[in-house]
Amino acid sequence: MSETKREKLAIDGGTPVKTTPFGTGKRFGEEELEQLREALDQNTLFYHFGGKVRQFLGDFNAMYGVKRSVATSSGTAAIHVALGAAGVTAGDEVITSPITDQGTVIGILYQNAIPVFADVLPDTYNLDPASVEAKITPRTKAIVVVHLAGNPCDMDALMSIARRHNLKLIEDCAQSYLTTYKGRLIGTIGDYGCFSTNDFKHISTGDGGIVTVNSGNDEDYAVTHAFADKNYQRFTNAVQREIHHLAPNYRMTELQGAVGIAQLRKLPWICAKRTEYGNRLTEALAGLPGLVPPKVTEGGTSTYWFYLFRLEPSRLSGTVDEFCAALQAEGIPCSRGYIPQPIYMQSMLRNREAYPGTHYPFELSPEIAYGEGLCPVAEEVLRTSVRLTISEFYTGDDIEAMIEAVRKVAASRIG
Ligand SMILES: *Cc1c(COP(=O)(O)O)cnc(C)c1O
Repeated sequence: MSETKREKLAIDGGTPVKTTPFGTGKRFGEEELEQLREALDQNTLFYHFGGKVRQFLGDFNAMYGVKRSVATSSGTAAIHVALGAAGVTAGDEVITSPITDQGTVIGILYQNAIPVFADVLPDTYNLDPASVEAKITPRTKAIVVVHLAGNPCDMDALMSIARRHNLKLIEDCAQSYLTTYKGRLIGTIGDYGCFSTNDFKHISTGDGGIVTVNSGNDEDYAVTHAFADKNYQRFTNAVQREIHHLAPNYRMTELQGAVGIAQLRKLPWICAKRTEYGNRLTEALAGLPGLVPPKVTEGGTSTYWFYLFRLEPSRLSGTVDEFCAALQAEGIPCSRGYIPQPIYMQSMLRNREAYPGTHYPFELSPEIAYGEGLCPVAEEVLRTSVRLTISEFYTGDDIEAMIEAVRKVAASRIG
């Protein structure tokens, strides 16, 4: 390693660590095509008449050991449906994480509820249960926990808070397929688990999503199902068309369901590869001075949607952006943070203006404000972290090259 220290960085004209292309592969093949052909042969692409969405959900339920789930048009839609099923309505407050995709808060605002951000833990980047509890008010209706980048939240603590305060708990599992917590699958522990099958997630149906109904009870399922389908009650004897409350149309089509059936069969392999690669990175980066690998939550396993590690700025010279530039010059794609800033720094929230020309629903909770300093740990995590891409198609050598490049760049910045 002392030799590494003297190595000239690629950014200073040295030889890059990685000069060969990263492993790639085909995500879709004959398996998907066969399912799509069968879907078209049905002569209907409507989920309630065809069999593909039904089978996709059946296979998903079997894999997850859940009784009931509902298919949606996106992960954002899945979260909105869960919120609707949980009874979240105008003026309610919903506590969630500031390090997430805007899809987590969109449904909250469409219900005219108010997002409240709790801070995260500095090592797992997931919600800090103590901060969640401190944000609860009499208006709080639900908590949306985000299992970031394949890593489970501290579910024992969060479930206990939700139960003690009589709150619904919704799991955002968009980045966390087949992630486990104390032997249970993430998405089966809270009241509802929400998944995304957009094109950038572990599996893709182009766009799409799933909501698990973990109570398994028929009425909860009927309400959840109806909320994704204009509030039509399709499981009563005659279709119930009397509309009592507003609900969107977030239906999944048979084409998405067909692709999903084939994709699900690849999921265990995809997740196993990602777990192997992420754990290998952590094993190698742990102990390198100035670097802090992500911590997998106690009792959990991660399926790494990406790999976010932290720099200790006090021990390394230069900025995080300079670190990333040097790593990129070594042939390793990377970027600072996951999102540039916590989600509450978006002007929609800072200005309390989700709908143009009005401050509704924010004016219902006048004491809630958004801006710098709201969640200091989340801000610090995003300021001091480096994101590496992980793909199931990478080879073991690709991962070793990533490790070598990180080691080389870090060594050049010590002391
Ligand atoms: C991708 C994602 C969503 C939204 O999913 P879409 O299918 O893009 O609507 C929500 N939450 C998280 C954490 C995500 O990563």
